[in-house]
Amino acid sequence: MHVLIVGGSVGGLSLAQCLRKLGVTFEIFERDASPESRFQGWAIGIHTIVDELQEAFPADLPKLKDATDHLQPHDLPAQMAVYIPGRDGRIGVESTPEAPIIRSERFRLRQWLSTNLPIQWGKRVQRIEHDDQGAAVYFEDGTSAKGDMVVGADGINSMVREYLLKRTAGDLLNVIPLAAIVGEVTLTGEQFKRQLELGHSAYVYMNPAQGFAHFNGLHYALPDGVSGRHYWMFMQPDADVAQPDHWLRSATQQEKLDHVLKLSASMPPLLRELFELTPASGIKTEPHVWRDLELEALPAGRVVLLGDSAHAMTPFRGEGAYHAFIDSLRLSKLLSKTDGKDIAAVKAAVAEYNAEMLERGVQAVQNSRNADSGKPKDPNAKLTTANQLLRPLPQVPIVLPKLA
Ligand SMILES: Cc1cc2nc3c(=O)[nH]c(=O)nc-3n(C[C@H](O)[C@H](O)[C@H](O)COP(=O)(O)OP(=O)(O)OC[C@H]3O[C@@H](n4cnc5c(N)ncnc54)[C@H](O)[C@@H]3O)c2cc1C
Repeated sequence: MHVLIVGGSVGGLSLAQCLRKLGVTFEIFERDASPESRFQGWAIGIHTIVDELQEAFPADLPKLKDATDHLQPHDLPAQMAVYIPGRDGRIGVESTPEAPIIRSERFRLRQWLSTNLPIQWGKRVQRIEHDDQGAAVYFEDGTSAKGDMVVGADGINSMVREYLLKRTAGDLLNVIPLAAIVGEVTLTGEQFKRQLELGHSAYVYMNPAQGFAHFNGLHYALPDGVSGRHYWMFMQPDADVAQPDHWLRSATQQEKLDHVLKLSASMPPLLRELFELTPASGIKTEPHVWRDLELEALPAGRVVLLGDSAHAMTPFRGEGAYHAFIDSLRLSKLLSKTDGKDIAAVKAAVAEYNAEMLERGVQAVQNSRNADSGKPKDPNAKLTTANQLLRPLPQVPIVLPKLA
Protein backbone atom coordinates (compact mmCIF):
# COMPACT_ATOMS: atom_id res chain seq x y z
CA MET A 1 0.00 0.00 0.00
CA HIS A 2 1.48 3.37 -1.05
CA VAL A 3 -0.65 6.41 -0.12
CA LEU A 4 -0.61 9.80 -1.89
CA ILE A 5 -1.79 12.48 0.55
CA VAL A 6 -3.06 15.77 -0.93
CA GLY A 7 -2.86 18.54 1.68
CA GLY A 8 -0.30 19.08 4.46
CA SER A 9 -2.40 20.46 7.29
CA VAL A 10 -4.21 18.97 10.29
CA GLY A 11 -5.83 16.03 8.48
CA GLY A 12 -3.11 15.13 5.97
CA LEU A 13 -0.23 15.39 8.44
CA SER A 14 -1.96 13.41 11.18
CA LEU A 15 -2.77 10.66 8.66
CA ALA A 16 0.91 10.68 7.62
CA GLN A 17 2.08 10.35 11.24
CA CYS A 18 -0.27 7.41 11.83
CA LEU A 19 0.93 5.71 8.62
CA ARG A 20 4.57 6.32 9.61
CA LYS A 21 3.96 4.55 12.91
CA LEU A 22 2.15 1.68 11.16
CA GLY A 23 4.94 1.26 8.58
CA VAL A 24 2.81 2.18 5.54
CA THR A 25 4.60 4.21 2.82
CA PHE A 26 3.21 7.59 1.76
CA GLU A 27 4.00 10.92 0.11
CA ILE A 28 2.52 14.29 1.19
CA PHE A 29 1.89 17.07 -1.30
CA GLU A 30 1.17 20.60 -0.07
CA ARG A 31 0.39 23.55 -2.34
CA ASP A 32 1.91 26.13 0.04
CA ALA A 33 5.46 27.05 -1.01
CA SER A 34 6.74 26.73 2.59
CA PRO A 35 5.46 26.41 6.19
CA GLU A 36 5.56 30.24 6.50
CA SER A 37 3.91 31.16 3.20
CA ARG A 38 0.29 31.33 4.44
CA PHE A 39 -1.33 32.40 7.71
CA GLN A 40 -2.42 29.18 9.44
CA GLY A 41 -5.16 30.57 11.66
CA TRP A 42 -5.12 31.39 15.36
CA ALA A 43 -5.58 28.59 17.90
CA ILE A 44 -7.69 25.44 18.15
CA GLY A 45 -8.75 23.28 21.05
CA ILE A 46 -7.62 19.65 20.97
CA HIS A 47 -9.50 17.44 23.39
CA THR A 48 -11.06 14.00 24.02
CA ILE A 49 -8.50 12.03 21.99
CA VAL A 50 -5.23 13.67 23.10
CA ASP A 51 -3.83 10.41 24.50
CA GLU A 52 -5.12 8.26 21.63
CA LEU A 53 -3.53 10.63 19.15
CA GLN A 54 -0.14 10.65 20.85
CA GLU A 55 -0.19 6.84 21.03
CA ALA A 56 -1.02 6.56 17.32
CA PHE A 57 1.89 8.85 16.37
CA PRO A 58 5.58 7.81 16.42
CA ALA A 59 7.49 8.36 19.67
CA ASP A 60 9.81 11.01 18.14
CA LEU A 61 7.12 13.71 18.38
CA PRO A 62 7.45 15.96 21.43
CA LYS A 63 4.46 16.20 23.82
CA LEU A 64 1.60 18.08 22.15
CA LYS A 65 1.14 20.50 25.06
CA ASP A 66 4.85 21.34 25.34
CA ALA A 67 5.12 21.98 21.61
CA THR A 68 1.91 23.89 20.88
CA ASP A 69 0.19 25.35 24.00
CA HIS A 70 -0.77 28.95 23.17
CA LEU A 71 -0.67 30.00 26.85
CA GLN A 72 3.07 29.34 27.27
CA PRO A 73 5.03 30.67 29.17
CA HIS A 74 2.07 30.85 31.60
CA ASP A 75 1.18 27.71 33.51
CA LEU A 76 -2.59 28.13 33.04
CA PRO A 77 -5.10 25.49 31.93
CA ALA A 78 -6.87 26.01 28.60
CA GLN A 79 -10.19 27.62 29.45
CA MET A 80 -13.15 28.73 27.32
CA ALA A 81 -15.82 30.87 28.99
CA VAL A 82 -19.29 31.95 27.91
CA TYR A 83 -21.13 35.06 29.10
CA ILE A 84 -24.89 35.18 28.54
CA PRO A 85 -26.91 38.22 29.64
CA GLY A 86 -29.60 37.09 32.11
CA ARG A 87 -27.47 34.25 33.45
CA ASP A 88 -25.52 34.82 36.66
CA GLY A 89 -21.75 34.53 36.44
CA ARG A 90 -20.07 32.75 33.61
CA ILE A 91 -20.12 29.18 32.33
CA GLY A 92 -17.44 27.36 30.41
CA VAL A 93 -14.98 24.51 30.22
CA GLU A 94 -11.44 24.20 31.51
CA SER A 95 -8.74 21.61 31.00
CA THR A 96 -8.50 19.10 33.85
CA PRO A 97 -6.26 16.03 34.31
CA GLU A 98 -9.34 13.83 33.68
CA ALA A 99 -10.49 15.73 30.56
CA PRO A 100 -7.48 17.58 29.13
CA ILE A 101 -7.93 20.32 26.55
CA ILE A 102 -4.88 21.69 24.78
CA ARG A 103 -5.37 24.99 23.01
CA SER A 104 -2.80 24.74 20.24
CA GLU A 105 -1.40 27.70 18.35
CA ARG A 106 -1.97 26.82 14.68
CA PHE A 107 1.53 27.42 13.30
CA ARG A 108 3.09 25.46 16.16
CA LEU A 109 0.50 22.69 15.64
CA ARG A 110 1.45 22.31 11.99
CA GLN A 111 5.14 22.27 12.93
CA TRP A 112 4.46 19.59 15.54
CA LEU A 113 2.47 17.50 13.09
CA SER A 114 5.30 17.93 10.53
CA THR A 115 7.91 16.33 12.82
CA ASN A 116 10.17 14.11 10.68
CA LEU A 117 7.72 14.07 7.75
CA PRO A 118 9.02 14.49 4.19
CA ILE A 119 6.47 17.12 3.08
CA GLN A 120 6.73 18.12 -0.58
CA TRP A 121 6.04 21.88 -0.57
CA GLY A 122 4.84 23.88 -3.56
CA LYS A 123 3.02 20.86 -5.01
CA ARG A 124 -0.50 21.88 -6.01
CA VAL A 125 -2.47 18.89 -7.27
CA GLN A 126 -4.45 19.79 -10.38
CA ARG A 127 -5.65 16.47 -11.73
CA ILE A 128 -6.13 12.87 -10.59
CA GLU A 129 -6.44 9.60 -12.46
CA HIS A 130 -7.30 6.21 -11.06
CA ASP A 131 -8.35 2.75 -12.21
CA ASP A 132 -8.36 -0.78 -10.78
CA GLN A 133 -4.55 -0.96 -11.04
CA GLY A 134 -3.58 2.26 -9.23
CA ALA A 135 -3.88 6.04 -8.88
CA ALA A 136 -1.87 9.09 -9.94
CA VAL A 137 -1.81 12.80 -9.07
CA TYR A 138 -0.63 15.52 -11.48
CA PHE A 139 0.80 18.81 -10.25
CA GLU A 140 0.66 22.38 -11.50
CA ASP A 141 4.44 22.26 -12.06
CA GLY A 142 4.03 19.51 -14.67
CA THR A 143 5.27 16.60 -12.48
CA SER A 144 3.23 13.64 -11.22
CA ALA A 145 3.27 10.83 -8.63
CA LYS A 146 1.85 7.30 -8.61
CA GLY A 147 0.45 5.19 -5.78
CA ASP A 148 -2.33 2.85 -4.69
CA MET A 149 -4.57 5.43 -2.98
CA VAL A 150 -5.18 9.19 -3.14
CA VAL A 151 -6.35 10.83 0.11
CA GLY A 152 -7.95 14.25 -0.29
CA ALA A 153 -7.00 16.15 2.87
CA ASP A 154 -7.18 19.39 0.89
CA GLY A 155 -9.72 21.30 2.94
CA ILE A 156 -13.10 22.91 2.38
CA ASN A 157 -12.53 23.78 -1.31
CA SER A 158 -11.11 20.33 -2.07
CA MET A 159 -10.17 19.62 -5.69
CA VAL A 160 -10.03 15.90 -4.84
CA ARG A 161 -13.70 16.07 -3.82
CA GLU A 162 -14.53 17.91 -7.05
CA TYR A 163 -12.80 15.15 -9.03
CA LEU A 164 -14.59 12.42 -7.08
CA LEU A 165 -18.11 13.87 -7.14
CA LYS A 166 -17.91 16.00 -10.32
CA ARG A 167 -19.47 18.86 -8.35
CA THR A 168 -17.86 22.19 -7.51
CA ALA A 169 -17.38 23.59 -3.99
CA GLY A 170 -19.79 26.40 -4.91
CA ASP A 171 -22.43 23.79 -5.65
CA LEU A 172 -21.89 21.67 -2.52
CA LEU A 173 -21.14 24.14 0.30
CA ASN A 174 -23.90 25.76 2.39
CA VAL A 175 -23.56 29.43 3.31
CA ILE A 176 -24.03 30.16 7.02
CA PRO A 177 -26.16 33.33 7.29
CA LEU A 178 -23.79 35.09 9.64
CA ALA A 179 -21.73 38.23 8.94
CA ALA A 180 -18.42 38.50 10.79
CA ILE A 181 -15.97 41.31 11.46
CA VAL A 182 -12.55 40.11 12.61
CA GLY A 183 -9.95 42.08 14.58
CA GLU A 184 -6.47 41.48 16.03
CA VAL A 185 -4.51 43.36 18.69
CA THR A 186 -1.50 42.86 21.00
CA LEU A 187 -2.11 43.78 24.66
CA THR A 188 0.33 44.24 27.53
CA GLY A 189 0.23 44.40 31.32
CA GLU A 190 -3.13 44.95 33.04
CA GLN A 191 -5.02 44.91 29.72
CA PHE A 192 -3.61 41.45 28.90
CA LYS A 193 -4.32 40.25 32.46
CA ARG A 194 -7.97 41.32 32.23
CA GLN A 195 -8.42 39.35 28.98
CA LEU A 196 -6.91 36.23 30.60
CA GLU A 197 -9.29 36.64 33.54
CA LEU A 198 -12.28 36.74 31.20
CA GLY A 199 -11.22 33.36 29.75
CA HIS A 200 -7.63 32.07 29.60
CA SER A 201 -7.96 30.84 26.04
CA ALA A 202 -11.17 32.39 24.76
CA TYR A 203 -14.56 33.74 25.75
CA VAL A 204 -17.84 34.15 23.98
CA TYR A 205 -20.48 36.78 24.64
CA MET A 206 -23.91 35.81 23.34
CA ASN A 207 -26.48 38.54 23.06
CA PRO A 208 -29.07 37.48 20.50
CA ALA A 209 -31.61 39.97 21.92
CA GLN A 210 -29.29 42.71 20.69
CA GLY A 211 -28.64 40.83 17.46
CA PHE A 212 -24.99 39.89 17.86
CA ALA A 213 -22.49 37.56 19.50
CA HIS A 214 -18.75 37.67 19.67
CA PHE A 215 -15.82 35.32 20.16
CA ASN A 216 -12.63 36.69 21.70
CA GLY A 217 -9.57 34.48 21.72
CA LEU A 218 -5.93 34.48 22.71
CA HIS A 219 -3.86 33.67 19.63
CA TYR A 220 -0.73 33.24 21.75
CA ALA A 221 0.95 34.65 24.84
CA LEU A 222 4.25 36.42 24.17
CA PRO A 223 7.50 35.16 25.74
CA ASP A 224 7.86 38.39 27.78
CA GLY A 225 5.27 36.97 30.23
CA VAL A 226 3.12 40.14 30.27
CA SER A 227 1.70 40.38 26.74
CA GLY A 228 -0.53 38.47 24.37
CA ARG A 229 -1.74 38.56 20.79
CA HIS A 230 -5.55 38.51 20.71
CA TYR A 231 -8.20 38.11 18.01
CA TRP A 232 -11.94 38.53 17.94
CA MET A 233 -14.94 37.87 15.72
CA PHE A 234 -18.05 39.97 15.97
CA MET A 235 -21.00 38.15 14.40
CA GLN A 236 -24.53 39.10 13.36
CA PRO A 237 -27.21 37.02 11.63
CA ASP A 238 -27.25 38.09 7.98
CA ALA A 239 -28.91 36.17 5.15
CA ASP A 240 -27.14 38.34 2.52
CA VAL A 241 -23.59 37.76 3.72
CA ALA A 242 -22.47 36.00 0.51
CA GLN A 243 -23.92 38.65 -1.83
CA PRO A 244 -21.24 40.31 -4.00
CA ASP A 245 -22.54 43.79 -3.05
CA HIS A 246 -22.64 43.12 0.73
CA TRP A 247 -21.50 46.24 2.62
CA LEU A 248 -18.65 44.38 4.37
CA ARG A 249 -16.96 43.78 0.99
CA SER A 250 -16.35 47.48 0.41
CA ALA A 251 -16.31 48.86 3.99
CA THR A 252 -13.05 50.36 5.25
CA GLN A 253 -11.33 49.00 8.35
CA GLN A 254 -12.46 52.10 10.27
CA GLU A 255 -16.09 51.63 9.13
CA LYS A 256 -16.08 48.02 10.31
CA LEU A 257 -14.57 48.98 13.67
CA ASP A 258 -17.08 51.84 14.10
CA HIS A 259 -19.93 49.39 13.44
CA VAL A 260 -18.66 47.05 16.19
CA LEU A 261 -18.09 49.91 18.66
CA LYS A 262 -21.58 51.29 18.04
CA LEU A 263 -23.36 47.96 18.51
CA SER A 264 -21.31 46.96 21.54
CA ALA A 265 -21.65 50.34 23.30
CA SER A 266 -24.30 49.05 25.72
CA MET A 267 -22.31 45.96 26.73
CA PRO A 268 -20.54 45.70 30.10
CA PRO A 269 -17.29 47.72 29.72
CA LEU A 270 -15.02 44.77 30.55
CA LEU A 271 -16.55 42.61 27.83
CA ARG A 272 -16.18 45.24 25.13
CA GLU A 273 -12.70 46.40 26.13
CA LEU A 274 -10.96 44.30 23.46
CA PHE A 275 -12.83 46.13 20.66
CA GLU A 276 -11.97 49.50 22.14
CA LEU A 277 -8.28 48.62 22.33
CA THR A 278 -8.13 47.44 18.71
CA PRO A 279 -6.82 50.00 16.21
CA ALA A 280 -8.55 50.25 12.80
CA SER A 281 -5.37 48.79 11.27
CA GLY A 282 -6.06 45.60 13.28
CA ILE A 283 -9.35 44.92 11.45
CA LYS A 284 -9.16 42.23 8.78
CA THR A 285 -9.75 43.66 5.33
CA GLU A 286 -11.07 40.51 3.63
CA PRO A 287 -14.75 39.57 4.18
CA HIS A 288 -15.47 36.35 6.03
CA VAL A 289 -18.24 33.95 4.97
CA TRP A 290 -18.73 30.72 6.96
CA ARG A 291 -19.64 27.66 4.90
CA ASP A 292 -20.27 24.01 5.79
CA LEU A 293 -20.71 20.72 3.99
CA GLU A 294 -23.03 17.73 4.40
CA LEU A 295 -22.21 14.75 2.16
CA GLU A 296 -24.63 11.84 2.11
CA ALA A 297 -22.52 9.36 0.15
CA LEU A 298 -19.12 8.88 -1.46
CA PRO A 299 -17.93 6.27 -3.96
CA ALA A 300 -15.61 3.60 -2.48
CA GLY A 301 -12.39 3.19 -4.48
CA ARG A 302 -8.83 4.43 -4.71
CA VAL A 303 -9.74 8.07 -3.94
CA VAL A 304 -10.90 8.95 -0.43
CA LEU A 305 -11.66 12.14 1.54
CA LEU A 306 -10.63 13.13 5.06
CA GLY A 307 -11.23 16.19 7.30
CA ASP A 308 -12.78 19.40 5.98
CA SER A 309 -12.90 18.09 2.40
CA ALA A 310 -15.51 15.57 3.64
CA HIS A 311 -17.24 17.45 6.47
CA ALA A 312 -16.32 21.14 6.76
CA MET A 313 -18.18 22.63 9.71
CA THR A 314 -18.53 25.97 11.50
CA PRO A 315 -16.09 26.38 14.42
CA PHE A 316 -18.77 27.08 17.06
CA ARG A 317 -18.28 23.74 18.83
CA GLY A 318 -14.54 23.51 18.15
CA GLU A 319 -14.79 20.08 16.48
CA GLY A 320 -13.47 20.36 12.89
CA ALA A 321 -9.90 19.33 13.61
CA TYR A 322 -11.07 16.78 16.18
CA HIS A 323 -13.01 14.97 13.44
CA ALA A 324 -10.07 15.24 11.02
CA PHE A 325 -7.97 13.47 13.70
CA ILE A 326 -10.56 10.71 14.13
CA ASP A 327 -10.69 10.23 10.34
CA SER A 328 -6.89 9.84 10.32
CA LEU A 329 -6.88 7.32 13.15
CA ARG A 330 -9.55 5.16 11.49
CA LEU A 331 -8.37 5.42 7.89
CA SER A 332 -4.73 4.66 8.75
CA LYS A 333 -5.71 1.49 10.62
CA LEU A 334 -7.83 0.27 7.70
CA LEU A 335 -5.18 1.09 5.06
CA SER A 336 -2.44 -0.65 7.06
CA LYS A 337 -4.42 -3.89 6.82
CA THR A 338 -5.26 -3.58 3.12
CA ASP A 339 -3.35 -4.91 0.09
CA GLY A 340 -3.11 -1.86 -2.17
CA LYS A 341 -2.99 -4.02 -5.32
CA ASP A 342 -6.26 -5.80 -4.50
CA ILE A 343 -9.03 -3.49 -5.75
CA ALA A 344 -11.79 -5.48 -4.01
CA ALA A 345 -9.98 -5.15 -0.67
CA VAL A 346 -9.39 -1.40 -1.27
CA LYS A 347 -13.08 -0.86 -2.03
CA ALA A 348 -14.17 -2.80 1.06
CA ALA A 349 -11.82 -0.81 3.35
CA VAL A 350 -12.90 2.56 1.93
CA ALA A 351 -16.60 1.62 2.11
CA GLU A 352 -16.15 0.76 5.80
CA TYR A 353 -14.31 4.05 6.47
CA ASN A 354 -16.84 6.14 4.49
CA ALA A 355 -19.87 4.68 6.30
CA GLU A 356 -18.61 5.63 9.77
CA MET A 357 -16.96 8.92 8.70
CA LEU A 358 -19.99 10.26 6.81
CA GLU A 359 -22.47 9.50 9.59
CA ARG A 360 -20.22 11.03 12.27
CA GLY A 361 -19.29 13.95 10.01
CA VAL A 362 -22.85 14.91 9.06
CA GLN A 363 -23.90 14.81 12.72
CA ALA A 364 -20.99 17.07 13.68
CA VAL A 365 -21.73 19.51 10.82
CA GLN A 366 -25.37 19.77 11.92
CA ASN A 367 -24.50 20.15 15.61
CA SER A 368 -21.94 22.84 14.81
CA ARG A 369 -24.43 24.70 12.61
CA ASN A 370 -27.05 24.60 15.37
CA ALA A 371 -24.49 25.98 17.82
CA ASP A 372 -24.15 29.06 15.55
CA SER A 373 -23.27 31.90 17.93
CA GLY A 374 -25.81 34.23 16.32
CA LYS A 375 -28.80 32.03 17.16
CA PRO A 376 -31.04 32.87 20.13
CA LYS A 377 -30.01 30.94 23.24
CA ASP A 378 -32.18 29.91 26.12
CA PRO A 379 -30.22 31.24 29.14
CA ASN A 380 -30.70 27.82 30.76
CA ALA A 381 -29.91 25.73 27.68
CA LYS A 382 -27.25 23.01 27.96
CA LEU A 383 -24.31 24.07 25.79
CA THR A 384 -21.17 22.14 24.91
CA THR A 385 -17.74 22.96 23.59
CA ALA A 386 -14.62 20.80 23.27
CA ASN A 387 -16.98 17.83 23.79
CA GLN A 388 -17.77 18.97 27.34
CA LEU A 389 -20.93 20.35 28.91
CA LEU A 390 -20.45 23.98 29.93
CA ARG A 391 -20.46 24.33 33.72
CA PRO A 392 -20.29 27.31 36.12
CA LEU A 393 -16.76 28.71 36.01
CA PRO A 394 -15.76 30.81 39.01
CA GLN A 395 -13.92 34.04 38.26
CA VAL A 396 -10.29 33.63 39.47
CA PRO A 397 -7.88 36.60 39.63
CA ILE A 398 -4.65 36.09 37.71
CA VAL A 399 -1.28 37.24 38.96
CA LEU A 400 1.27 37.72 36.22
CA PRO A 401 4.68 37.21 37.90
CA LYS A 402 6.29 40.12 36.08
CA LEU A 403 3.47 42.48 37.13
CA ALA A 404 3.44 41.42 40.79
C1 LIG B 1 -11.61 30.35 12.88
C2 LIG B 1 -11.58 28.85 13.01
C3 LIG B 1 -11.48 28.28 14.27
C4 LIG B 1 -11.45 26.88 14.43
N1 LIG B 1 -11.36 26.35 15.69
C5 LIG B 1 -11.34 25.00 15.85
C6 LIG B 1 -11.20 24.41 17.16
O1 LIG B 1 -11.10 25.11 18.19
N2 LIG B 1 -11.16 23.06 17.26
C7 LIG B 1 -11.25 22.25 16.14
O2 LIG B 1 -11.22 21.02 16.29
N3 LIG B 1 -11.37 22.77 14.90
C8 LIG B 1 -11.42 24.12 14.73
N4 LIG B 1 -11.51 24.66 13.46
C9 LIG B 1 -11.60 23.76 12.30
C10 LIG B 1 -10.25 23.27 11.81
O3 LIG B 1 -9.39 24.37 11.56
C11 LIG B 1 -10.44 22.45 10.52
O4 LIG B 1 -11.44 21.50 10.71
C12 LIG B 1 -9.14 21.73 10.15
O5 LIG B 1 -8.12 22.67 9.84
C13 LIG B 1 -9.36 20.81 8.96
O6 LIG B 1 -8.14 20.25 8.59
P1 LIG B 1 -7.92 19.71 7.10
O7 LIG B 1 -6.53 19.18 7.10
O8 LIG B 1 -9.04 18.82 6.72
O9 LIG B 1 -8.05 20.99 6.16
P2 LIG B 1 -7.18 22.32 6.11
O10 LIG B 1 -6.65 22.66 7.46
O11 LIG B 1 -7.99 23.33 5.38
O12 LIG B 1 -5.93 21.94 5.20
C14 LIG B 1 -6.01 21.69 3.83
C15 LIG B 1 -4.59 21.73 3.27
O13 LIG B 1 -4.62 21.31 1.91
C16 LIG B 1 -3.81 22.18 1.13
N5 LIG B 1 -4.34 22.12 -0.25
C17 LIG B 1 -5.52 22.58 -0.70
N6 LIG B 1 -5.67 22.32 -2.01
C18 LIG B 1 -4.54 21.66 -2.40
C19 LIG B 1 -4.11 21.12 -3.65
N7 LIG B 1 -4.87 21.19 -4.75
N8 LIG B 1 -2.90 20.50 -3.70
C20 LIG B 1 -2.11 20.41 -2.58
N9 LIG B 1 -2.48 20.92 -1.38
C21 LIG B 1 -3.69 21.52 -1.28
C22 LIG B 1 -3.98 23.53 1.81
O14 LIG B 1 -2.95 24.44 1.49
C23 LIG B 1 -3.99 23.14 3.29
O15 LIG B 1 -2.70 23.11 3.84
C24 LIG B 1 -11.55 26.05 13.29
C25 LIG B 1 -11.64 26.62 12.01
C26 LIG B 1 -11.66 28.00 11.86
C27 LIG B 1 -11.76 28.59 10.46
